[in-house]
Amino acid sequence: MAKAKRGKTNLTVKGWRGSCPQCSRTGVRLLWETKGEDDKNIKICKVCDAAIRNKAS
Ligand SMILES: [Zn+2]
Repeated sequence: MAKAKRGKTNLTVKGWRGSCPQCSRTGVRLLWETKGEDDKNIKICKVCDAAIRNKAS
């Protein structure tokens, strides 16, 4: 569970790497999702996911 985002399995996800809409970093892994504006799921990077989690709890 803790390492679910690591390893080769990530490479099978199409568009797994790109620019994070939250922090505008490029070339990051977008394997985390959050609710963005309009209640849509958006893909975000690890850093932003951690920030959201810290805020929520
Ligand atoms: Zn980000």
